[in-house]
Order: sequence, then C-alpha cells, then structure tokens
Amino acid sequence: MSDATADVAVIGAGILGLATAMSIAQRHDGLRVVALEQESGVARHQTGNNSGVIHSGLYYRPGSEKARMAVSGAERMYAFCAEHGIGAERCGKVVVATDASELERMQELHRRGDANGVPDIREIGPDELRELEPYAAGIRALQIPSTGIADYRGVAERYRELLEAAGGEVRLRSRVGAIRSDPDGVQLATTTGTVQARYAVNCAGLQADRLARRAGAAAARDLRIVPFRGEYYDLVPSARGMLRNLIYPVPDPQFPFLGVHFTRRLDGSVEAGPNAVLALKREGYRWRDVSLRDTAESLTWPGFLRLAQSHWRTGLGEVWRSVNKAAFVSALRRLMPDLADAQLVRGGAGVRAQALRRDGSLADDFEIVHQDRLIHILNAPSPGATASLVIGEEIASVAYGAWFERAGGQGG
Ligand SMILES: Cc1cc2nc3c(=O)[nH]c(=O)nc-3n(C[C@H](O)[C@H](O)[C@H](O)COP(=O)(O)OP(=O)(O)OC[C@H]3O[C@@H](n4cnc5c(N)ncnc54)[C@H](O)[C@@H]3O)c2cc1C
Repeated sequence: MSDATADVAVIGAGILGLATAMSIAQRHDGLRVVALEQESGVARHQTGNNSGVIHSGLYYRPGSEKARMAVSGAERMYAFCAEHGIGAERCGKVVVATDASELERMQELHRRGDANGVPDIREIGPDELRELEPYAAGIRALQIPSTGIADYRGVAERYRELLEAAGGEVRLRSRVGAIRSDPDGVQLATTTGTVQARYAVNCAGLQADRLARRAGAAAARDLRIVPFRGEYYDLVPSARGMLRNLIYPVPDPQFPFLGVHFTRRLDGSVEAGPNAVLALKREGYRWRDVSLRDTAESLTWPGFLRLAQSHWRTGLGEVWRSVNKAAFVSALRRLMPDLADAQLVRGGAGVRAQALRRDGSLADDFEIVHQDRLIHILNAPSPGATASLVIGEEIASVAYGAWFERAGGQGG
C-alpha cells in the first residue's frame, strides 16, 4: 500500500479511461496523470470483449454525440491504427433487409447515415448483395464501405504505452472504493492506498454509476447501469468462408443494440451475435456468475421494471436464444439461410454497461457530466471504442481543458 498524489486521477483502464488519461498527459505538459484499474491488466471488460467493429456512424440520431463522434472517431481510429501498426481493416459492411417490412427502416437508416456524413452509402439489390456476400439472403441491402474492424485490445495497450511515454502511470489492482470530493480536490481510497488528486475522471464502465453516486453526483441518482450480457457463437473454421466481411440486420429503432450479426475478426475467425440478456452480475460473463447485490439492484430499479413490463416478450426471446442454440441459429439464418447448427460453436461474451433512466428509457447518447472536480462518463455504449480518441481529446482539451491548464499552472 502506498499513498500518492496526482494532478489527475482517471478511474478505469478500459479504452475510454486510457484514451482520456493519454490525452490529458499529452496535452498538458508536466501534469501527473494516474489511471487506477481494479484488474491485473487493462481492457479486461467491455473493451476487451466487444465486437471489434469500427462503426461508421450510420445508426445514430443526427445531431447526437454518438453520430458526431463515431464519424470523426472512425477516421481517427483508422489513422491511429495505421500510424501505430495496430491491426485494422476498412472492410465495409452490408445491412440486409430480409423482407419488405424492413425496407422503409432500411431507407430511413440510409437517410440517417447521409445526414450524419457517413461517406458513400449505397443501396444495392439482391444480385449485388450476392456478389459481396454470397451466403447472405436479402431483398435489398445498404453497403457501407467506411465500416471496418480493429484490434481494440491492441489499441488500448498502445494508449497505455503512450500515456506512460508522456509521463503518466497505470496502477493495476487498484480498486477505487470511497471517493471524497471537496473544493480543493478529490480523495480516492483504493486497494493500493489513497490517491489525492486535483481532478478525477470516472471511466469505470460497468461500475461508473456507483462510483458517481458514491461521490455524490446528482446526475447519477436518476440513472442506473443495468448490465446486459451479449453472447456470441463462433463459426467453425471450415465455415468461415461463408462470410467475407460484416453482415448486419436492419435494427429495431427501439432497441438498436438488439439483432445478431456476423463479424469477421482480424485473425480470420467469425463471430455471430451478440444477443442481450440481463447479466446477474455486472461483470457476469456466464449465467453462473451471480451477484445478489447486482441482481437485486437491477430488479428493483424502477426503470428496469418499467422496461420489463413493456418489453417482456422481447426480453424473454433474448433469454430463450441464450439457453437454446437452435433459437439462436434460427435468428442467424434470417441473414444466412444455409447456416447449419453444426457450423456454430459457443464463443465468448461481453457485458454492456447500459444506463437506464428511472422512467424506463435507455440512455441513448454518450453521457458525460461533471460535478465539482470530477468528470463522470455515465453512459458509453457502442460506438464508444470507435469514438475513444475523440472522447478522450474532448475531455482533455475541449470540455475541461481549462481545468487541466489550471492544474498544470499555479495549483488551482
Ligand atoms: C458486447 C459488446 C460489443 C460492443 N461492440 C462494439 C464495437 O464493435 N465497436 C465499438 O466501437 N464499441 C463496441 N462496444 C462498446 C465499447 O466496447 C465500449 O463503449 C467501450 O469499451 C467502453 O470503454 P470503457 O473504458 O468505458 O469501459 P470498460 O472497457 O468496461 O472499462 C472500464 C474499466 O474500469 C475498471 N473499473 C471498474 N470499476 C473500477 C473501480 N472501482 N476501480 C478501478 N477500476 C475500475 C474496469 O475493470 C474496466 O477495466 C461494445 C460493447 C459490448 C459490451
């Protein structure tokens, strides 16, 4: 145990904590920046278990932070990966309408993408779809050439190296417990000692709302992170050739994160999924990972009860697909009818930190709030990894740059 002081403490070494810490250290010379991470390595939760897609910005409401940050973030991510020799590929994807009822939504998606500035989206017919993805079935599709794939663990590791090169530090196995914020600074009690910082940024992902409440942030009272696990199947090696790049369904606008898709990874493997089921533990990657506290908090949250009341059918369908492979495969066959059960084996899982408001609505956009000398990232769903460089830079220089200038100056 050793106590420490820092100018800026960042809680969490996922892709957003690291991007933020790196950006602050690079932009504000001489600031002592420390990232505090509970695990024994970086990127162990959402960052290390996501779909690995560089999102183009197609789905998001025009004018939203997600739209703006995905479009600019994707280009920044490609450039970063190229500069640092990290795996990434601008391979493009297709969003496939499988029947006439999806056409209008698909066209609305096209309009959204255009409004968001996503380049070169094209609507294509079944023949062209077959040329791009011979095993995909659809009556029409959108082709989005700017979507791609990246090695986000590799990106996070490089952010860490760049943070350290700029004089910063990552303290592993440092779980932040109590937080005390006063006009002079922020005191963080961690499992490796107390850190006294001038400013702190809460990038704790699945735990971000709890830490914010512990610090007394009013914005966290009406919002709870409810963990939704996304489970994947993998295509067996002999079936990998059935996919060239990425195949997505037309999303349901009410639940844009639902809808299983096919993703080629950089190593040539293919993932199919994810579904979305309530995780019984915030870091619960399997049904048998259970925390009574986490489950009780989700089930007693008025927002969750409201969501469950209105959408129990959708929720049960997701649970059914989780426990029944045939149901999961049948959802996948809508996009790829020739797929056989035997061509899929259970793969990994990721848990999404989805912020749910008291009234039952899902917090849709990125949500970054401040309280005294603390900044909290309270909602950072997909495309958070794509947008990580932009989010980190905006916190470091645009939104809160003046804070950190002061911290580097006369001790304010
Ligand atoms: C299944 C899934 C698929 C996704 N697919 C994509 C995709 O294809 N493309 C994309 O752009 N985005 C995707 N996302 C979203 C993206 O992964 C997230 O937006 C991003 O990883 C969030 O990063 P983070 O740093 O906020 O969270 P995390 O990566 O979860 O990091 C939070 C960190 O905080 C640490 N922590 C928590 N509590 C404490 C504490 N008390 N003290 C110290 N440390 C603590 C955790 O250990 C963790 O390392 C996906 C997410 C999921 C779950």
